[in-house]
Amino acid sequence: MSTPNMATAEKIFQGSLAAAEASRDTKTYTGFMSGLFEGIVRRRLFASYALPTMSAAATDFVERLRPVLVEQVDPERIDREAEIGEEVFAAFREIGAFGIKIPTAYGGLGLSQSEYHTVATLLGSHDASTTVLISAHNSIGVAEPVKLVGNLEQKQRFLPRLAKGEISGFALTEKDAGCDIWDIKSYAIPVQEDGEMIGYRVTADKLYTTNAPRRDKEFLASLLIVIAQIVKAPHEVHRPKEERQFGAFVVETSSPGCSCARLEFLGVRGIYNGEVHLRDVFVPVENRLGEEGKGLRRALESLTVGRLTLPAACLGVLKKCLWLARVRAQSRVQYDHPIGEHTDIGSKLVAMASRVLALEALVKITGVWADAKQDVRLESAAAKILATEWLLESLLDLFRLYGGRAFETPDSLRLRGEIPAPIERMIRDSLINLIWEGTNGILNLWIGREGLEGYFKQGQAFLDMQVKAMLHATPFFVKVVSRSFNGLPAYKNGAAHPYEAWERFVEEKSRELARKILLVTARHRRRLVPKQMLMRRFSKASMHLLAVESALWYASQQGINDRPLAHGLLTYFCSRVKEDFEPTPLLSTRTSCWDDDTTVYHLAKDILAGKAEWLEDGIIKMPLA
Ligand SMILES: Cc1cc2nc3c(=O)[nH]c(=O)nc-3n(C[C@H](O)[C@H](O)[C@H](O)COP(=O)(O)OP(=O)(O)OC[C@H]3O[C@@H](n4cnc5c(N)ncnc54)[C@H](O)[C@@H]3O)c2cc1C
Repeated sequence: MSTPNMATAEKIFQGSLAAAEASRDTKTYTGFMSGLFEGIVRRRLFASYALPTMSAAATDFVERLRPVLVEQVDPERIDREAEIGEEVFAAFREIGAFGIKIPTAYGGLGLSQSEYHTVATLLGSHDASTTVLISAHNSIGVAEPVKLVGNLEQKQRFLPRLAKGEISGFALTEKDAGCDIWDIKSYAIPVQEDGEMIGYRVTADKLYTTNAPRRDKEFLASLLIVIAQIVKAPHEVHRPKEERQFGAFVVETSSPGCSCARLEFLGVRGIYNGEVHLRDVFVPVENRLGEEGKGLRRALESLTVGRLTLPAACLGVLKKCLWLARVRAQSRVQYDHPIGEHTDIGSKLVAMASRVLALEALVKITGVWADAKQDVRLESAAAKILATEWLLESLLDLFRLYGGRAFETPDSLRLRGEIPAPIERMIRDSLINLIWEGTNGILNLWIGREGLEGYFKQGQAFLDMQVKAMLHATPFFVKVVSRSFNGLPAYKNGAAHPYEAWERFVEEKSRELARKILLVTARHRRRLVPKQMLMRRFSKASMHLLAVESALWYASQQGINDRPLAHGLLTYFCSRVKEDFEPTPLLSTRTSCWDDDTTVYHLAKDILAGKAEWLEDGIIKMPLA
């Protein structure tokens, strides 16, 4: 029988939306972003943490990884041949790169998430395909779900194999189930023997599984997480979506009935990705992760932290972007000046540097939050969106900055004696970031929906006219109203620290966000969820405020606060964000710092002079010849 909550939700939501609503993670959000939606700035989540440090094991690993990348990983060859050489796999195995986050007790390196971010940034700066190989295995492959959901026996059985270098992946997507994962048609039929459950017969047609095929009919991965509906008979896969139950299984790809085919792509051409087909494959019950029917949600939970690797890898590419831009903007002279001194180009350089600062901040804070087991469900999605969008915007600016040479291949440039900057490849490699690990579009809407949860949960009491629940819910709304409609207290006497004005900005905008949400939820109630334009705005506002608060935290840290240009770039970044909230009319002659010729000129000159070179730390810079 459905509860009143479900009954109301079902009337509004049908099909996949209803399924998504019914299987939401109902744990109360405690992270920074959920507070913003209610006008609360949980600043203690920043104040409690300093910048993460690296353990000896992590430092040692980075020192061993760097020469492997420089000496053995040739990004151009990988792009040209669409193959990562056998010697690279061997070298990665040798240094333990397939067990980065696996605890040492199981033979792994036992690195923390924030340490892993440093590794991902280094990898990302050098080669996209090998980054994907390592990341798909370590971040979303078998190890993470087994660590999170698996029992002791499963950990003992799988983790040592993975740490030694067996490769894994995560098979969720299907031809008709992309964003709409509720449409998965792969199925698992329970198998009993003598009245006892012994396993499942799994039939699946998966698409785009990274690390699965080495080539047609030959697997790279020996283990895959496969998500399938649990049914008694095949026709049940067409049940109403709300009734479907999913399981997560660890499948040995050497099992009879498994086959694969490799696909080709526009970018990250060296990835081993493709179709996976399972026909009546027997999977022992010991290989099911979590309770029957709960597998999908639990497996998706492991993607929350797994998704954080992508922003860290994007940071590597963004830093490289800044380096290439700086070099070119200084050396290329047109109209008698280095092009970086013309503020149209200089502004691109400054925007790039400010994004590096902001993304580094996000990567660091989400890393320490993940290490401390703080709630990062919304924050990891936000970091993924911001990182991938900032990177693409910066790459387009880099493209403009390099002019025609950005469109020319490195080989062709080299033949003519020019700097072989691989910009066209960097763009091709980065496009897919908008799509995988949750499309930016869907994650955006999801953040909006989850941010409103408090309003829906408490507001339901009034819709259901349940007096007791209404009494419980009243304080929530009273608090939101008083917070969001009351002005902030006056400025303290004298600025407590240099960034107080921006902290105040975050508080003001968070209150405004809560105020607007209160008004529209009163009007639309749950019907707000399908209003995607509105949801996107709320989501964007909350992400921007997270970015500003992270940047303020980062720029205040010891070791960063005294770096040249840290203050100028932070101010530039914050005022650029403010512009999104309070746009300057196009014909206004009053300029904000981010749009002011004099400010931009001086910042750009300083960047050209190498004063922000510290922002390029932690990457590989191959000789530009
Ligand atoms: C190179 C590569 C590697 C990949 N690796 C893996 C992997 O290892 N494992 C795995 O399981 N999958 C993997 N994927 C699949 C990837 O996660 C999916 O492509 C992604 O989930 C989107 O699915 P789709 O391509 O079918 O797009 P669709 O679902 O068709 O979506 C198309 C567009 O419509 C939008 N959209 C869809 N529904 C809605 C809606 N309700 N409201 C608003 N907008 C909507 C989307 O945001 C998107 O922009 C990979 C894909 C590629 C290309």
